[in-house]
Amino acid sequence: MIWSALKYMFTHSPALLEQMFDVLTDHVFLMQVESDGGYRLTFCNLAMSRFFAVAREDILQKRLEALLPDPELYQRVCDSYRRVLATGKAQDYEETSEGLPQAPPTTFHTSLAPLFDAAGHCTHICGVSRNITARKQAEDALRVTNQELEVRLAEIRVLQVQLQQQAIRDELTGLYNRRYLEESLERELQRAERAGQPLTLMMIDVDHFKAVNDTYGHQAGDRVLQAVAELLRKRLRAQDIVCRFGGEEFVVILPDTAAQQTLVRLESWFRKEGLLTVGHEGQRIDVQFSMGLAEYPTHGRSGEQLLRVADRALYQAKHNGRNQVCLGGAA
Ligand code: GH3
Ligand code: MG
Ligand code: MG
Repeated sequence: MIWSALKYMFTHSPALLEQMFDVLTDHVFLMQVESDGGYRLTFCNLAMSRFFAVAREDILQKRLEALLPDPELYQRVCDSYRRVLATGKAQDYEETSEGLPQAPPTTFHTSLAPLFDAAGHCTHICGVSRNITARKQAEDALRVTNQELEVRLAEIRVLQVQLQQQAIRDELTGLYNRRYLEESLERELQRAERAGQPLTLMMIDVDHFKAVNDTYGHQAGDRVLQAVAELLRKRLRAQDIVCRFGGEEFVVILPDTAAQQTLVRLESWFRKEGLLTVGHEGQRIDVQFSMGLAEYPTHGRSGEQLLRVADRALYQAKHNGRNQVCLGGAA
């Protein structure tokens, strides 16, 4: 339909055909393939001659190298023409025409097609170029915005993790807090029940901690708490859950562990290094602890029961003279 309309215009009204090309904003052109491998512009519409800022009668019959004085741009355009000639097929390509003195950098989407003579030789290449600079700029701006959003999103994710950590961590020691302990204890007890394994709960209290604060100051006390946390972290296994219960009290959940087993381990620990020495402003502060142990299921099946038993055992250790471990009795 369109071809018959064009044929009609071509034979009956070439002026109409020319007018039609000239109302288009896309560039329409015809390049003659020269015998020396170069190209010569034999037709272009008004939009194209305006882009090159040359009157149409002056632009026609120019060779491609005269139109594109930038050698790199000329080379790239030649390469795309050569691809059309080599394949004998239509090709699309995008090209940013930098290095044209008459125009700011402009990106074109160009569709090229080979035209053949009766003998089947490609004599011309016709092309339609659409200025897609605005679209490219919008895409680039969108890409930048997306990258910025990605960065923001990553920052938010980091903040979320920090917040989650803050909600479950004790700020001073970095250990889990009491809230996390209570949640974990329920979870670990259920796991122990399913697996038919024992679990030990250990409650630790620093001996005469008030005296540390009174003698060396609150900051020294803080430093001691951090050192105790560090020691527990270092001494216990990765699966043990170490928490600061409050003040100078710590609670540890030891999954898959019998209290007797823990007791043996702790006693050898106490024998070897029952004392922790913390340096603070050139002073050496000796730290001791008392501990109480409770075992699931022997001393109770709920977290609350086990905490009560461990607390009572801890009280017993204090009562017996401190710096020792006591195992809980029946709940
Ligand atoms: P005991 O051997 O019977 O456990 O005696 P204690 O002195 O360790 O226990 P007490 O309960 O009398 O004192 C605990 C002190 O711990 C009182 C409190 O001011 C102090 N404390 C609690 N939290 C912190 C803290 O975060 N930093 C410091 N520096 N001191 C704390
Ligand atoms: Mg205490
Ligand atoms: Mg204490």
